[in-house]
Amino acid sequence: MTAPATPSRDLAGVTDARRLTEDQQTIADTLADFCQGEAGTREQRERLTDGGTTFHHEPVYRKLAELGYVGACLPEQYGGGGGDIVDLCVFLEETAYGRLPIAATGVTMIVAGAVERFGTEEQKQHYLGRIAAGDAFAIAMSEPGSGSDVASMRTKALVEGEQIVVNGHKTWITCAREADEILLIARSEQTERKHDGLSMVFIPRDTHGLDIRPIETMGGNEQCDVFFTDVTVPTSKVLGTVGGGWGQLVAGLNVERLIIGAIMLGIARRAFDDSLAYVREREQFGKKIGSFQAMKHRVSDLATELRCAELLVYDVARSIAADPHRLLPREASMAKLKVSEVAKRIALEGVQMMGGYGYASEYDMEFYLRQTIASTIYGGTNEIQRDIIGMTYGL
Ligand SMILES: Cc1cc2nc3c(=O)[nH]c(=O)nc-3n(C[C@H](O)[C@H](O)[C@H](O)COP(=O)(O)OP(=O)(O)OC[C@H]3O[C@@H](n4cnc5c(N)ncnc54)[C@H](O)[C@@H]3O)c2cc1C
Repeated sequence: MTAPATPSRDLAGVTDARRLTEDQQTIADTLADFCQGEAGTREQRERLTDGGTTFHHEPVYRKLAELGYVGACLPEQYGGGGGDIVDLCVFLEETAYGRLPIAATGVTMIVAGAVERFGTEEQKQHYLGRIAAGDAFAIAMSEPGSGSDVASMRTKALVEGEQIVVNGHKTWITCAREADEILLIARSEQTERKHDGLSMVFIPRDTHGLDIRPIETMGGNEQCDVFFTDVTVPTSKVLGTVGGGWGQLVAGLNVERLIIGAIMLGIARRAFDDSLAYVREREQFGKKIGSFQAMKHRVSDLATELRCAELLVYDVARSIAADPHRLLPREASMAKLKVSEVAKRIALEGVQMMGGYGYASEYDMEFYLRQTIASTIYGGTNEIQRDIIGMTYGL
């Protein structure tokens, strides 16, 4: 059985909840056409992802950058388009919906945010310009012994004169192999409080002493172990202040969580549309399976959840756009939590709605399920998001 043609966009009819301006809608439509042209068929996606194993295709990403989309939300004086986080969400949602293999986008945008907030003028010129031009970046926080309790990290980045010397092991680093540089968060000082003494340092991928090894996962091998042995870079590679890394990380959490929400929203919408297209076509017992009440109710519930997710992402995006310096720990965690759970549920129910074909690799539903499962783990697990939301209620 061959996979159905790409369904028409937004079968769920939820994208009006984004309340985009005419210009933003035009960008969304253009991006959708771009994705359709580049990755609209199964054959194209197989080719771009090396048979479903690697998910950042540099030439496609650079093409998007040349068209101005990658830097659309970066400041104009650094080569960007001057847009805001709503524009970024549109970009992330549409490219995820369009199944474009540009996996480094989310982490690169997180790095861009850190540079915008804490970079020197020179660093902003250098890094934001490169990001707008299509260079990919990674961010390395997690360690084998420090996952949810990330502040307990042990990798050392010690200042020795005009240099920083790094030793340690980071793990799960998305797109470390594709990244031109890795933004490392490591311990530059042993302090009483684990949140103190952390620093952010850029490490170019080809630096001597860096060893990057892919991790095999149910979603390909895009995440990597990164080993640092006497990796030495000049102190000009420090982002922000030595010892101020934790505060700098926290300042970017709004954006990081919303980025994950927007990407998962695109996948949720795609999983919904593919499922709906399938149950409208597939016949059993002489009827379209979508006409069975069990199926209709399921579709209705998922469409309702999807609309909630769409509203939440763009509501939080607008709040951040209105005041980029305000921390929204509750709302940003809600967006990450809700949308990743909705996406996982839609993909899981999508597999069930498609029966055996939902389980087959020939269709994309099982791939969406694998992607969405991961989203409830990275960027702070959903248990941690619930903890943060609870804390905002004084619990
Ligand atoms: C696909 C993928 C991409 C990733 N990309 C990156 C990346 O680019 N950069 C990076 O630095 N890291 C990355 N990570 C790492 C990710 O951030 C961690 O996996 C995540 O923070 C959880 O840490 P852990 O895996 O060590 O699990 P643990 O922290 O050991 O957690 C195991 C379980 O215990 C639960 N748990 C832990 N503490 C609590 C608590 N206080 N209350 C309740 N439950 C708790 C967790 O929710 C989880 O269910 C990625 C991970 C994945 C899977």
